[in-house]
Amino acid sequence: MNREMTSSFLLMTFAICKLIIAVGLNVGPSELLRIGAIDVDGHFTVHPSALASVSSDFGMLRSPEEPLAVLHPSSAEDVARLIRTAYGSATAFPVSARGHGHSINGQAAAGRNGVVVEMNHGVTGTPEPLVRPDDMYVDVWGGELWVDVLKKTLEYGLAPKSWTDYLYLTVGGTLSNAGISGQAFHHGPQISNVLELDVVTGKGEVMRCSEEENTRLFHGVLGGLGQFGIITRARISLEPAPQRVRWIRVLYSSFKVFTEDQEYLISMHGQLKFDYVEGFVIVDEGLVNNWRSSFFSPRNPVKISSVSSNGSVLYCLEITKNYHDSDSETVDQEVEILMKKLNFIPTSVFTTDLQYVDFLDRVHKAELKLRSKNLWEVPHPWLNLFVPKSRISDFDKGVFKGILGNKTSGPILIYPMNKDKWDERSSAVTPDEEVFYLVALLRSALKDGEETQKLEYLKDQNRRILEFCEQAKINVKQYLPHHATQEEWEAHFGDKWDRFRSLKDEFDPRHILATGQRIFQNPSLSLFPPLSSSSAASW
Ligand code: FAD
Repeated sequence: MNREMTSSFLLMTFAICKLIIAVGLNVGPSELLRIGAIDVDGHFTVHPSALASVSSDFGMLRSPEEPLAVLHPSSAEDVARLIRTAYGSATAFPVSARGHGHSINGQAAAGRNGVVVEMNHGVTGTPEPLVRPDDMYVDVWGGELWVDVLKKTLEYGLAPKSWTDYLYLTVGGTLSNAGISGQAFHHGPQISNVLELDVVTGKGEVMRCSEEENTRLFHGVLGGLGQFGIITRARISLEPAPQRVRWIRVLYSSFKVFTEDQEYLISMHGQLKFDYVEGFVIVDEGLVNNWRSSFFSPRNPVKISSVSSNGSVLYCLEITKNYHDSDSETVDQEVEILMKKLNFIPTSVFTTDLQYVDFLDRVHKAELKLRSKNLWEVPHPWLNLFVPKSRISDFDKGVFKGILGNKTSGPILIYPMNKDKWDERSSAVTPDEEVFYLVALLRSALKDGEETQKLEYLKDQNRRILEFCEQAKINVKQYLPHHATQEEWEAHFGDKWDRFRSLKDEFDPRHILATGQRIFQNPSLSLFPPLSSSSAASW
């Protein structure tokens, strides 16, 4: 045994002893060592740098918490071996899948006594995406980044249909939530575009599930916040990839006109329609060139004063039309016909044209810019809400024109979706109306910024927004939800709660999985501080 191997063996033994002391496991160290040192084809580590790298997330809202160990699996069977050991031990220890750690509130954490399964593809030889062009699908490892799924499928002239705005997220991570972007109005969220899954349940069984096989598990896992199993393979439906994108932005000063146009656009389903419909709110002139809207700048600077004389709130509609090089003439006509139906401020049209891959990967460019200014790795007190269409104008008055003042510390996205594109059998939760809006307040907190940019200020503002919705009886649902009490989770799931709980009893009866979501307490372990209403203020 060389020096490096000896030291990792000692570290591993130390961690396992800690695990046994902490949770009173009745399996012997040799069994755990078998997982760590011999039986997994991947890599089981307690190296301090590996523990540190999974102890925080994009939100940076919680103190970093290191798990006992990290598994880099190379197969579903590696994940299953670990979970079977956790499940079979006297006091089940937590196991959490971590995608790319882009959660906000520690959802991918496993706690001090747990093991994190680092799903990210690439470290340990997990399977490569396998494209089946004749059947129009791709099979991908659960920890694959969407950007790599895109690159692989484009080699065949194909691409998934439904996206997130940012592609450095994992397939398992977004399918555990929903996965939404401006294509969702037409194709539904990413969870509506999955044909089959392989899942390792909380009992350590590897189960295949689809519309035809293990249907309850299939629908439960989609949007299931990691509660019923770890997704190790997903079969994603594909379409022919367009080559280019005409990307258009127009401004509105009237919220009513803006939302009427957005709702009109998402009601179109024929051939002649836009392919992507999003929008954002401009409450602060400084933010017109924020990281999410970098295409206004620098070639195309917007002078807000030229379209709004009193500095009031403006709304930007963002739409795209996909096309192939061979259709470049017809795209102009199609865009013109579609734009004629809209009622934006006539002088406010901004158009650009780019390759499909560059459009889909647009936020990454902004990430690189922010990283270069040390503005990416800062706390992100994000709040994502689904707001029913019938109350979106009350939300505008109370929040965009009220609580926010004229400072937001980040982009505010707003776009509508059609509920009939969401499968009611999935675990994802949306408002009880045919059309609802995503409102995403994507804020970055700055330690040395103005008062309105500080973390405590922004967390308090989030709390006030949620309080306002409750008092005004606007039945919002959180997307990427974070709740502090069992009652809040039950209210979040509403009619879906009983099924959600019974799926948990069936597929993860010892509450091993995704404990960082804080939905179910492990009955025999105090993994996290007790749930209390006071911790709700931590938003
Ligand atoms: P993680 O944060 O690592 O994990 C999220 C949860 O899923 C955890 O509970 C984890 O245990 C569980 N999980 C992870 N992998 C698996 C698996 N294989 N099987 C089962 N459970 C698993 N979301 C959108 O819908 N649309 C967007 O446009 C969008 N844009 C974003 C932009 C940025 C810059 C960021 C930071 C996030 C964005 N998100 C968006 C949110 C994103 O969908 C969530 O952060 C999501 O959690 C995916 O991130 P991840 O892959 O890093 O998963």
